[in-house]
Amino acid sequence: MIGVVASEAEHPAVAEFFELFKTPWEFHRSGTHYDVLICSNSLVPENSAGLLLLYGAQRQAFEECRNMKTRPAPGHDFISFRGDRMPIYGSCLLFDSPCNTVLVHEGTKSAAAVSVASGAQVMVRLGFDLFEETRRLLTQGQPAELASIPTLDLHISILRELIVSQGVALVEILPVPAGHRFIVCLTHDVDHPCVRYHKFDHTMFGFLYRATVGSVINFCRGRRSLRQVATNWKAALSLPLVFAGLAKDFWNQLDRYMELERDLASTFFVIPTKGEAGVDSHGRTRAKRAARYASTDIADDLKRLLSANREIGVHGIDAWRDVAKARDERARIQEITGTVEVGVRMHWLYFNSQASLTLEKAGFSYDSTAGYNETIGYRAGTAQVFKQPNVDHLLELPLHIMDTALFYPSYMNLSDEQAVAAMLPLIENATRFGGVLTINWHDRSLGPERLWCDAYVTLLDDLRTRTPWFATAAQAVSWFRKRRATSFASVTQEGGGIRVQSAADRTDGHVPPLTVRVYNGGASKHNLHHSRSAAFQDFTIDKSDQVLIAA
Ligand SMILES: [Zn+2]
Repeated sequence: MIGVVASEAEHPAVAEFFELFKTPWEFHRSGTHYDVLICSNSLVPENSAGLLLLYGAQRQAFEECRNMKTRPAPGHDFISFRGDRMPIYGSCLLFDSPCNTVLVHEGTKSAAAVSVASGAQVMVRLGFDLFEETRRLLTQGQPAELASIPTLDLHISILRELIVSQGVALVEILPVPAGHRFIVCLTHDVDHPCVRYHKFDHTMFGFLYRATVGSVINFCRGRRSLRQVATNWKAALSLPLVFAGLAKDFWNQLDRYMELERDLASTFFVIPTKGEAGVDSHGRTRAKRAARYASTDIADDLKRLLSANREIGVHGIDAWRDVAKARDERARIQEITGTVEVGVRMHWLYFNSQASLTLEKAGFSYDSTAGYNETIGYRAGTAQVFKQPNVDHLLELPLHIMDTALFYPSYMNLSDEQAVAAMLPLIENATRFGGVLTINWHDRSLGPERLWCDAYVTLLDDLRTRTPWFATAAQAVSWFRKRRATSFASVTQEGGGIRVQSAADRTDGHVPPLTVRVYNGGASKHNLHHSRSAAFQDFTIDKSDQVLIAA
């Protein structure tokens, strides 16, 4: 059991941190024994913990007692731990000391964390504020330049490593469904379902230019094949026939998505109202943001998707800033889907610090807007579904990969091969840290003139070989809800232990079971399947079983 000493102000961030690192913990109660005691910027209470972790960027008694020289790190900088590098966004304290260096500050090569053994206790002093870093990542997020680093997942990984490498017993519910390595959410924002909705508007003229002149320029640059140029010219020439209803609308790619994704789950975010541009966080209206369709215009397509077990969510216009409008947007989609739980992703990823609260008040179950327009990666520093500290129920499914970020000339401007290479580290991180990899390939992206099909097919082929759980956004969120609802309790009789108690399963078995991992402990089991390895044992929790793990 981990005890945590932290100020009242840090409590929400502490609680959320331990929803992501799902292990038994509590705020410190005096007189209680903890295997691990974490003190965040606080006085250290009398304790018998085998491992004492002292986080904080201010000078503390630990270094005072030892006459240890410290100095603040010169600026925002990176630290590294066993080959991983990560940014610290707040202040960082460096230690001039002969102690064991645990974390290295990249700019100065000084220690950003040190460890000392004292009797039966190991003390690790880390020169930054873990829970302030957590709060900042979840609420403000990372700048786009550092998007590629799963900073919060690395904080969890460092803490786990420190505990396990000290031989302290640790119980954890993995952020990975049993039987899988990670979760994949394939999603599609439906911005332009048909080119025929764009008769003589800026979108049509943009298309004509990119399909004809742009294609040829890209061919000369080696970015388009002759076949692709021909496809785009053919599409451009067929436009009058498409408008007349005599040729197939080449922006409607739903059948192609269904064919490529076949047996896989996917989610489509649909704009509820036509012609509404909404306003941005500065109160400006950008006419280009308005959709040229309403959800009712494509109701037949949506029914077809629903009958193929796809999920339909709201692609919101003003939902992020106005509760009444959010309710209206939700209701319009619910009229078509008939589902009780509805999720949302904002068009153009509009968001602010109050958006989660607004969406929650409007009755949404999850949001999937936390991503970048201009790059791919981890806005909140994590691949896990999380909750903003100021909301009660609404969960955030982070968005990691968006096609437009990869291919737009003003964003990453990658070729197919470069895009596939850029996505690989995120897949590898998912395999290592678990969580969910959320991908957004826009509705029309497979058709002319984008033709971003090859990269998507390669991505799907790669993902299939790694056997993740392909879930709809709602399923992924509901799996994380089930994990969050699972609790631990200390057991005092029969030699003690920890009871892992899953909440009543409200998901009707539509989501996979949880995995409990026990490190360095002789574990017994009740009603469990488990696999053995040297360092840990894994147990699968099905439905609402209660599990007793002896310490
Ligand atoms: Zn959109």
